[in-house]
Amino acid sequence: MLLQNKIFTVLGGLLLTLLMSATVQAQKNVWQAADGVYMYGPGQGFNSMFVITDEGVVVMDTANSQHAKGLLKAIKTLTDQPVRYVVQSHNHWDHAGGSKVFQDQGAKVIAHEEAYAWMKENPHYDLSLPDETWSGKRKDLVLGGKTIELHYMGMSHGLGMTVSLLPKEKVAFIADLVTPNRVMFTIVPDFNIKEWVRALKVLEKMDFNKAGYSHSHAKTPIGTMQDVILTREYIEDLQGAIMAEFKKGTQFLEIAGNIKLDKYKHWVGYNEWLHMNVYRVMLDMWMGPYPWRPKHAYE
Ligand SMILES: [Zn+2]
Repeated sequence: MLLQNKIFTVLGGLLLTLLMSATVQAQKNVWQAADGVYMYGPGQGFNSMFVITDEGVVVMDTANSQHAKGLLKAIKTLTDQPVRYVVQSHNHWDHAGGSKVFQDQGAKVIAHEEAYAWMKENPHYDLSLPDETWSGKRKDLVLGGKTIELHYMGMSHGLGMTVSLLPKEKVAFIADLVTPNRVMFTIVPDFNIKEWVRALKVLEKMDFNKAGYSHSHAKTPIGTMQDVILTREYIEDLQGAIMAEFKKGTQFLEIAGNIKLDKYKHWVGYNEWLHMNVYRVMLDMWMGPYPWRPKHAYE
């Protein structure tokens, strides 16, 4: 064999191996939650849900263009159906970015009217405006015999916070309100703590066995109701510990250094962020809940 041919054979083999490993990789990043319901998580801190039906695919949260391209590839390894809808969980750039990847192949992007209003006022280079908005507390998306209930969670985190629930499959997609195995994220951005606890109690009354979480530090992005309960307990334990320090008359600046919550010490961020969590929750208890706005008529 000529040296040149040999090189081509080796290169061809290498390319094939790379292509195959790319396919395996795409499937490796996918977890099945129920019949036709999957989570995609490439290990870069963000997970999306997708639902495959006989009439097309529905995607929840697109994050950014890079994530969205990987997600589209992963979907294509499982079905030839086009993505028909993208449901955005809330307004934030890090969740709603990248949806143009799906709009370009014909998908309609849907967001709650509150999220849309914010996105319109706060453009970002990787954010494409939704094609359709919805209002009120509830909208049902029915496609190919599958029902996806969109539940508006009210003030809690960000704007237009939407939890998607598949009632038949008993699977939910929950963004930001619950992040398994982690304390609150850094300075707890854009959460109203009181309303967050209320929203978690609403989730606890919903009927699901499995939940896909947009962020998770568990082994897979698919968790259970227990993650919701533990999140509420962490907030309440933190509030309790802060209140105990208030009652003891501990100086404001000494409180964070005094608080230990051993039950959660194995959670990601415990050593780095617990004191930031304390300050955020303490300010909420000192000043009153924020951010806040008058409720809509439908809340
Ligand atoms: Zn967010």
